[in-house]
Amino acid sequence: MKILVINCGSSSLKFQLIDSDSEQVICKGLCERIGIDGSRIVYTPAEKDKITIETPMPDHNKAIELVIEALTNKENGVVSLDEIGAVGHRIVHGGEKFTESVVINDEVIKAIEDVSDLAPLHNPANLIGIKACQKAMPGVPMVAVFDTAFHQTMPENAYLYGLHYSYYEKYGIRRYGFHGTSHSYVSKRAAEILGKDIKDLKLIVCHLGNGASISAVKDGKCIDTSMGLTPLEGLIMGTRTGDIDPSVVEFIMKKENLSVAEVTNVLNKKSGVFGLSNELSSDFRDLEDGYLAGNEGAKRAVDTFAYRVVKYIGAYTAAMGGVDAICFTAGVGENSGFTRKKIIDGLGFIGASLNEEANAVRGKEEIISNPDSKVTLMVVPTNEELAIARDTYALCK
Ligand code: ADP
Repeated sequence: MKILVINCGSSSLKFQLIDSDSEQVICKGLCERIGIDGSRIVYTPAEKDKITIETPMPDHNKAIELVIEALTNKENGVVSLDEIGAVGHRIVHGGEKFTESVVINDEVIKAIEDVSDLAPLHNPANLIGIKACQKAMPGVPMVAVFDTAFHQTMPENAYLYGLHYSYYEKYGIRRYGFHGTSHSYVSKRAAEILGKDIKDLKLIVCHLGNGASISAVKDGKCIDTSMGLTPLEGLIMGTRTGDIDPSVVEFIMKKENLSVAEVTNVLNKKSGVFGLSNELSSDFRDLEDGYLAGNEGAKRAVDTFAYRVVKYIGAYTAAMGGVDAICFTAGVGENSGFTRKKIIDGLGFIGASLNEEANAVRGKEEIISNPDSKVTLMVVPTNEELAIARDTYALCK
């Protein structure tokens, strides 16, 4: 079966067409600047060159139309419309309602709407994607795959904040965690690579991309993760603060005369390694170059980032009563041996020993610890689209 995977943002729409038998990507692409001037669709059919079409996209309905046109047109299309057997949608927030992927029906759509105030930027965009696909492909089954679902196994003592309990009861204020599809995929894959049953493993997954989160996976279940009510908590990220004393918000508001929305923007867009490096870059490639060239801001940013990861690894090792393997994934985790080494240098306390030669690896599965290391260190590239396609196939076949 051919599965269309859709990741719909407010002004962008990423897609992949995946063959469920071979698990190969048949075509992937992106619609950018939906509803804004200068919109375009960029896509790459397997084994062909990238195609870019600049064309007006006033809304997501038009974007989906163009995606289908790109996939099915006579000249360089890859399928006919009736070959697309199902659509898998990435949905950011499933609240407490969704602990696994589900086939989309009216009730599911309503439930996604109901938790939208927990993810006001993301869930409405995800819903627009669902509705546009329903319109363009009536009758084709669709599945919702939630970023939060994998983390729903967290125990109460990990997901509760030290807030008055009534806020949890009234509004569902608690830690939910994100990147769950990635944490789930990587932990399963790590167990396969290690040749062990995931039920016998204590794993720590470090998803280090532009957004970054870390999770503790014990016996195949997530028992803690660093992101919270929103994806702002936890690790220091490209432009997000991660953990911060909430009093900082009021302090900055007063000193700089900012509104709540403005200071929230600072925490999300102007902080992280970008802010720490004095706006040198949020991209770890630039930061690594800067670090090696002696740029103080780059050094400060990477060292502070790495220290935060080390602290979380320490905390999660304690939470699980040990750790068998630490997995690095996403843009930075998969590609930056430099940043991995900065983190692993702080892990002597659990007997981690890095094989520097193996750590030169980029973007492929590799064990990067020495044989005598007390904990296995590994690079496991994530593949959220494949995980979404697998769930979609399993529910629709
Ligand atoms: P997201 O999905 O959150 O946008 P990704 O997982 O795609 O993020 O990661 C993007 C980040 O990966 C980039 O900002 C960049 O810092 C980092 N990255 C990609 N390639 C490299 C590399 N070769 N070396 C260091 N960092 C890299």
